[in-house]
Amino acid sequence: MQTAPDTTNPWLQGLNPAQREAVQTLSGPLLVLSGAGTGKTRVLTSRLAELVATGTAKPWNILAVTFTNKAAREMKMRVSSMVGPMAEQVWLGTFHALAARMLRRHADLVGLRSDFTILDMDDQTRLLKQLMEVEGLDAKRWPARQLGGVIQRWKDRGLTPDKVGIADAGDLANGRMRDLYQAYQARLLALNAVDFGDLLLHVLTIFQAHPDVLAEYHNRITHIMVDEYQDTNVAQYLWLRLLTGPDRNLCCVGDDDQSIYGWRGAEVGNILKFESDFPGASIVRLEENYRSTGHILAAASGIIARNESRLGKTLYTSADEGEKLRVNGYWDGSDEARSVSSQIESMQSAGQDLASIAVLVRAGFQTREFEERFIAIGLPYRVVGTKFYERAEIRDALAYLRLIAQPADDLAFERIINVPKRGLGTASLQAIHIQARASGKPLMAAALDLVQSDELRPAARNALTGFCQDIKRWRDAMGGMHHTDLAKMVLDESGYTGMWQADRSPEAEGRLENLTELVTAMQDFDTLQGFLEHISLVMDGDTDSDQGEVTLMTLHAAKGLEFDTVFLPGWEEGIFPSQRTIDESGAIGLEEERRLAYVGITRARRQLYLSFAGSRRIHGQWQSSIPSRFVQELPAETVIEDIAQGLGGGIPFGRAAQAQLAGGGEFGDGWQTERSGGGYGPGWRRMAARRQEPEKPAFVSKASANGFAVGDRVFHQKFGMGNVIHVDGDKLEIAFDKAGHKKVVAGFVSKP
Ligand code: ATP
Ligand code: MG
Repeated sequence: MQTAPDTTNPWLQGLNPAQREAVQTLSGPLLVLSGAGTGKTRVLTSRLAELVATGTAKPWNILAVTFTNKAAREMKMRVSSMVGPMAEQVWLGTFHALAARMLRRHADLVGLRSDFTILDMDDQTRLLKQLMEVEGLDAKRWPARQLGGVIQRWKDRGLTPDKVGIADAGDLANGRMRDLYQAYQARLLALNAVDFGDLLLHVLTIFQAHPDVLAEYHNRITHIMVDEYQDTNVAQYLWLRLLTGPDRNLCCVGDDDQSIYGWRGAEVGNILKFESDFPGASIVRLEENYRSTGHILAAASGIIARNESRLGKTLYTSADEGEKLRVNGYWDGSDEARSVSSQIESMQSAGQDLASIAVLVRAGFQTREFEERFIAIGLPYRVVGTKFYERAEIRDALAYLRLIAQPADDLAFERIINVPKRGLGTASLQAIHIQARASGKPLMAAALDLVQSDELRPAARNALTGFCQDIKRWRDAMGGMHHTDLAKMVLDESGYTGMWQADRSPEAEGRLENLTELVTAMQDFDTLQGFLEHISLVMDGDTDSDQGEVTLMTLHAAKGLEFDTVFLPGWEEGIFPSQRTIDESGAIGLEEERRLAYVGITRARRQLYLSFAGSRRIHGQWQSSIPSRFVQELPAETVIEDIAQGLGGGIPFGRAAQAQLAGGGEFGDGWQTERSGGGYGPGWRRMAARRQEPEKPAFVSKASANGFAVGDRVFHQKFGMGNVIHVDGDKLEIAFDKAGHKKVVAGFVSKP
């Protein structure tokens, strides 16, 4: 008779010995530290099942922090299949969701009622502004959003106002930043409200001040599990440490190579010091990657090996080598979008499910070109996050343009009448509505009538008069100028761009990039009307499909996910690695960008397509771009060397591509996979046009007297190896592999 081994439990089936060890280590601190696709998330899910199945813990004794909702659902399903509806009782979700649940139970301990409101960013800023007025702080010198950002970062670090150090506050808000923070917290309490950061912070305060409450949690929650531990910030870390009871049943999984939220206060150090935080912790390393083919894994490993600050791990796969990565260079962004789309279409025709395909971009604005193309050819897609034309800043900008082109557009009027703030709040809008109803006119016309009367208070009347005059002036200008110039003018003069420029929150840069991208999108249309019509069609085009949808999202959002086929477009210096990150954080920032490349590559199971464009339109200006340094960092043996062959072979493709770009010569066939219209597509025309305009060089190549050109690989005594990205006389701008971007005098570098 055969005794059933415990491996017949469905959640244990197929696990390798190291994974099984992790799943079956149910007590004491446990860290699973290993590379992408090694089954960390799977281990967490299985371990949750194991905890319940063995009776080690009841569902309500377990707290599991997941990074994605998908993982949360999957875990819940697993447990439901074993224990039924009790699965609902697992403490399962993101840090914020879990903290909110706790705070509702003990709100009174921090002076809140349990029906407190969670404020969004806008409310938060408005509140801060009011307080600043009371304090007499100049909102121009100290934009409220910036100070809001400071408070948020303090909260990420677990700092209540009394814990903020003098040095932390510095001269922010004229040295009164700590007072402002204090006042802000007091005001939130008075409103029975919290902001996002408060969710964790208040719970920390409660745990620290009320040992009895904490003890109650220690009784109740006996086992804690955390996914993506490398991206926890200080507040989350403290929360976990406090929640972990005397039995220390804390299981964390993560990968230091996938820490990509440093810019938001995540501390990769948390995972690195797990052993010293919890002496005697069991450490499990998983080395087999089950997700990707050999070539994909080798490419990812090759890139991440260039980072200096990492633990270093072994990763292997028993899977086939699979297909090599394809690296494609395109004329420009729209060529890239076109080609990627038609490749996806062919895959779909060949029977591949669209849901198994993803396009991952570095920055949010990059989704726009793909979305337009997908809509144009009717390819079903979903955007994780918000679709381009539905993003708030794009809707605002479009509302301005609509109101200018279509004066009777009441929705547009309402949307922007007080954005940016011009003192036309609810009361003014109400008066305009009444006027409109009485006269049967659109809001804009009613507003014009209203400013002639004395219905409004003088301040509001002045503001509304100004607004009406602005709209009229822009409308008059419409006929005489190009619509893209009009758009730029409107966004500037209305103060809309300025509003986001003054904003120091991490999202603001992305919003400004989106606005720039909007102007770029308008270039494709002859008139403003034509463009607006296109938008209304785009917004309408809900592509419902039963065959799944292509996923379009940022690399950051893709963490933890996997797809059979992944496209990684826009691998160009400045976009990826992002210029801003390098400017702000130098070599450290570059390493975070490289981790992001690692995350991107390791999302792919079978096929990976990377690409870059030779030029991009930014604010309607053509700008040449050079391939990302990460392209060159791909181990040559993992990549199909289309490009090198197309260019005559012999040269490593990265270099060849750069030389090609720098030279601006004829492209081989391997270069451009799709050329619209018989070889003389728009790319060629633009190229020809640029050739006649020497002040706007096509692919910048200012070979200088000392013989350096853009794209050259150079060596600097102090900064090491790098790529020349700009030449200005004898000054070179160099993207160093480790030291970031620097300007150096040509005499100090040599060609290796
Ligand atoms: P990431 O670092 O990207 O979050 P991960 O380490 O969490 O990755 P998982 O997502 O858990 O990895 O697993 C990657 C893929 O490998 C999944 O499809 C998973 O089902 C599969 N997998 C994990 N372990 C095994 C195994 N022992 N046998 C077969 N497939 C496995
Ligand atoms: Mg995972």
